[in-house]
Formats: sequence, structure tokens, C-alpha cells
Amino acid sequence: MHMFHKNRSAGAFIKVCPAREQSMTPLILRLDISGIPVTWIPWQDAVSLYCRDMVAWTAGEHNFTFHGGICRRTGVRSCVDINTIIAVKRSSTHRHVKRTIPPLTNRELFLRDAHLCMYCGSEYPEHELTRDHVVPLSRGGLDRWSNVVAACRQCNTRKGNRIPEMANMPLLAVPYVPNWAEYLALSNRRILLDQMEFLKSQFSGRPMPFYKQ
Ligand SMILES: [Zn+2]
Repeated sequence: MHMFHKNRSAGAFIKVCPAREQSMTPLILRLDISGIPVTWIPWQDAVSLYCRDMVAWTAGEHNFTFHGGICRRTGVRSCVDINTIIAVKRSSTHRHVKRTIPPLTNRELFLRDAHLCMYCGSEYPEHELTRDHVVPLSRGGLDRWSNVVAACRQCNTRKGNRIPEMANMPLLAVPYVPNWAEYLALSNRRILLDQMEFLKSQFSGRPMPFYKQ
């Protein structure tokens, strides 16, 4: 980290790279002090953590440099290097994250299933997929990760209000609840290689259809 003005608010920092690149600025992976991934944060929040001296250690392979204004007293331009993976001091989210079931959204569900219909095996764009309840809601099935799969409209309609066995439509993969690291990997489209490698070390070990790298 270079010199920067400690009292300066994060909003005063400006990224130096060209505008087009700026829109591509990746999200920063925030860890708790023990190295458990917690969430994605925008670079402005990361700058704020650096400015408050809240970054305990870093694990990414890259730094992004952000420049702020000139200090009136010293004439020195403020500047802060942001690592792509930062562990934050005094953060004990470990237990919280272990308990937390990732929110279920279609976008992450379809990514979990690699945009494949879990009945016919064909690949579809997001807007052509549906959320199929393996045990239909009308039969007491729950709207949870472990009871939902991506399905194309045709298969979903054909299956109707039946369980796969009744419809003679076996599932191609058993639906699972992503752990938090897997969920973070699913939920960021601009994930960097070092961030993915870090999260991968905390995947559950089962084959991950969405992870094709
Ligand atoms: Zn299908």
C-alpha cells in the first residue's frame, strides 16, 4: 500500500484506468480473518476498508491502484492499492457463513446446472429455462435448492404435476445445495482466475458442472 490520506472518504478515490476498463473493474472477494470467503464487495468498499486499516492480509495475485486527490498539507497525491482478495480484521463471520444457505434464484440455479435441462440434457440460454420442482409444490415439495433443477419448458410441461419416476423422466443429476464458496463462484460473472482458484479450494469436492475452466 502506498501513501493515502486516512481521513479521506472512499468516494474521493478515482480509479486511474480508462473508462472502458473501469466498467470492467472486478469485484473484490472479502474474507473473514480466518480466510472464509464472505461476500463480493465493490472496489469503493475495499478502498474504505484499506483507509480504515481493516485489511488484515491479502491472498490475490493482483492489485488495482486507485488515486485520490492531492493532500493540501503535503502535496502528495493519495493512492491505494487494492488486492483482489482481502481478509478483514475483527470479522468473525465463520459461524454465520457455515450456517447460511445461499439464496435461491433462477440465475444461480441455472448456473449450478450449467444451463442444461436436467431431464433432456440439452443446453439452453437463461431465458428459455424454468425452475422445476422435482417433487411438485402441489405434492408437498419445497422451493429449496435440493428440490429444484433447471428444466426446459418442454420437459417442464411434459413432467407436469408428477415426480420424475411417475413421469418416467429420470433426473440427469441430483440437485444439491451449493456451499457458500460455490455460491460466491456462481454469483459473480466477472470472477478473476485467482479468486476462482481461492474459492475452488473450499468447494465441496463434488463434480461442478458450471466450473468448466
Ligand atoms: Zn428438457
